[in-house]
Amino acid sequence: MKFGIKNRKFFSKVTAIIFVLGLFLGVVPVAYGQTFANVNIVFSDQGKSLNVSGRIVSNTLLVPYQALVENLGGQSQYESLARRLTITKGDTQITITAGSRNATLNGTRVNMPAAPVIHNNQLLVPLRFVAENLDQLVLWNNATRTATLREKPVAAVKKTGGVVNIYTSRHYGVEPVFAEFTKETGITVRFTTGGDALLRERIKAEGKNTPADVYMTVDAGNLWLAAQDGLLQPISSAVLNRNIPAELRDSQNRYFGLTKRVRTIMYHPARVTPAELATLRTYADLADPKWNGRLILRPGTHVYNQSLVANLIASYGEARAERIVNGWMANKPQLIDSDTRILETLAAGGGDVAITNHYYLGRLLQNNPAFPIKVIWADQGPNEAGVHANISGAGITAHAANRENAIILLEWLSSPRGQRLFADSNHEFPANPAVAPHSIIAGFGKFRENPVAKSEFGRLQADAVKLIDRAGFK
Ligand code: FE
Repeated sequence: MKFGIKNRKFFSKVTAIIFVLGLFLGVVPVAYGQTFANVNIVFSDQGKSLNVSGRIVSNTLLVPYQALVENLGGQSQYESLARRLTITKGDTQITITAGSRNATLNGTRVNMPAAPVIHNNQLLVPLRFVAENLDQLVLWNNATRTATLREKPVAAVKKTGGVVNIYTSRHYGVEPVFAEFTKETGITVRFTTGGDALLRERIKAEGKNTPADVYMTVDAGNLWLAAQDGLLQPISSAVLNRNIPAELRDSQNRYFGLTKRVRTIMYHPARVTPAELATLRTYADLADPKWNGRLILRPGTHVYNQSLVANLIASYGEARAERIVNGWMANKPQLIDSDTRILETLAAGGGDVAITNHYYLGRLLQNNPAFPIKVIWADQGPNEAGVHANISGAGITAHAANRENAIILLEWLSSPRGQRLFADSNHEFPANPAVAPHSIIAGFGKFRENPVAKSEFGRLQADAVKLIDRAGFK
């Protein structure tokens, strides 16, 4: 009897030790041999969570790979015959085989804490191993059985301190973004705002002595001009290459798009009849005589419209682009040199249709959810090229004194945390495809984007300006 009690005490001690050990190792072995686990995975940068059925092997949590890889912005390919999974994200490649603890990470053999297993025709992979190698921090909460994933802050990778100097023509909401960057990295941000062309002239005039490390601006046309003028240097960064799709950066990596902005059709629903609305689908539709005296545009001298016209030339050829612009001019548009004022004029009944960037509407809706103007994504039909999307972005100056810090800044801005803050501050679409857009602009609906490379807007700018001049689009 005594013996039995002692033994029971002994066993409960062992159970307690196993339990505490389990806390450290991230799992609770509730009963010996239990290996199934229903767990939550929280993708905190993406604002998503999933409940998955995983398995615990050697105190390692294994989960189905598809949702994990997909939500972290990676691609996966599974070869069922070889039972081999290849995960890629930017320059990172991980190869995993069912039943083997050996994995390959960017060509180097590494050991995983447990071998992946196949269960119910699904390959389960070690969550922490995969997530950490895709630059995630993994936090396990045993009480709630939740793994929280979050991109490693840049500061955890590199710690430098010091300063980075930015010349920026982008001024909406940049301060809180830079403040957060400083908090995470210890790097002080100093920034000077000004016009796009003026800041380029200044960098040129300052030459080797320029205090600017980063040129930040809106519109691919401006970024392209800075690169053409030799003001920017090529940057080789695996993080930027992974986070920013190739079509949103310079082919020589001299500049990187950080947000996307869509320039499209806006209308007042009370001033456009349903029948008219049914025929309002394309930029060319605004050339129809029914819009005579009802159209509002920004002047053709503005780079936003020069890039739009350059995009029309690239997609439809110069002759068709010219017919479209001439048609707009034939409708005697009211020209207003501010997208915000264009939308406010539309709302006040001073016009019925217009072309503006989407985020100006996002901003007005943020301040007043009842703002009446509606958006149409232009050129979505099967024979049309897709809506015109431009970028805002940045490059590192050719003579940057704080080059390393400038790279850290751009990498941080491209990361989910940086993207969230930077894009949302102006209701723009994040350039990093792993980051979801702000709910207000997500509410505008999905669109098909014109696939022409953003650098074409710069290359065709001179042709666009000539066309605009010939059309009398002043
Ligand atoms: Fe703008």
